[in-house]
Amino acid sequence: MKAAFFKEHGGSDRILYGDYPDPVPGPGEAVVRVRACALNHVDLLLLDGRFPPPEGLPHVNGCEVAGVVEEVGAGVAGVGRGQRVVVFPGFSCGRCEYCLRGARTVCLQYGYLGAHKDGGYAELVKVPAANLLPLPDGVSFEQGAALPLAMLTAWHALVAQADVRPGQTVLVQAAGSGVGSAAIQIARLCGARVMTTVGSDDKVELARALGAERVVNYRTGDFVEAAKAWTGKRGVDVVVEHIGGDTFERSVYALTRLGTLVTIGSHDTHWGRLDLRHVYSKNLRIVGTNLGSIVELRQVLEHVVAGRLRPVIDRTFPLAEARAAVQYVLDRKNRGKVLLIP
Ligand SMILES: [Zn+2]
Repeated sequence: MKAAFFKEHGGSDRILYGDYPDPVPGPGEAVVRVRACALNHVDLLLLDGRFPPPEGLPHVNGCEVAGVVEEVGAGVAGVGRGQRVVVFPGFSCGRCEYCLRGARTVCLQYGYLGAHKDGGYAELVKVPAANLLPLPDGVSFEQGAALPLAMLTAWHALVAQADVRPGQTVLVQAAGSGVGSAAIQIARLCGARVMTTVGSDDKVELARALGAERVVNYRTGDFVEAAKAWTGKRGVDVVVEHIGGDTFERSVYALTRLGTLVTIGSHDTHWGRLDLRHVYSKNLRIVGTNLGSIVELRQVLEHVVAGRLRPVIDRTFPLAEARAAVQYVLDRKNRGKVLLIP
């Protein structure tokens, strides 16, 4: 098969396009013909070596895949060749203490498609058959590939972790990102009011169209002051944060008493200072989260079918132009998801 892979860490110029070994399904596994694969921030970490692929190089990135089942291994039931599917990207053992508690995303052997195994920047990808969900007819492959990481992570963060309620106020960082564009819509679906940040004024219109009531350009404005003004000095109930560093540090000041900061990524840096006085005196909750469950992905799909959630797709690139697609994301030109089409 053809794949976009890398044998050395570095920038987008390290991505090669060419022949790569065909995946062969083992027992309980399926091979999916990729019809669309979305790019993610984690791809960039895997590429540049900040998060080296655990199985070593060469490696194929790509966590979010929609496609058609090509072949199934021994013992696979309920899914067969030709079926349209979306791949749930999390791998877990099902046996450790945390899996047994129902918290599979903190499994002792947790892994992601495209990180711990070769992913979807390829014509074919191998996955556990248990990770396949039928892709409803009303959802395109492009839409399907924009859901399993960004939309699901935002869903789990807001619905399961922050427990957002109607009438609450939510600050979503970075409306132009996959997670940000998803979080705005999900918070609105929960009945909350939403404020968001953007890095350039040309993203303001997108943020408003998604349902944000107040949009702040974080390069030219102060989002803490804006959050205070927007809530009549009270502060917001929830912040969805995935940037890290100064953005994380200052997000705490935007929260009201009993507020919740959900951290779901670290796009700029893994580090962030915390003003503990605000955490204890205001009884704040700082909650970490990653991904969600396959059941939640099914719920997200139902909302997409019903038109209540809409994955924001910026543009597609042919798989052969994966290098250009990665550079486009590195340059932060995207407004929503960028997809590769084999
Ligand atoms: Zn486990």
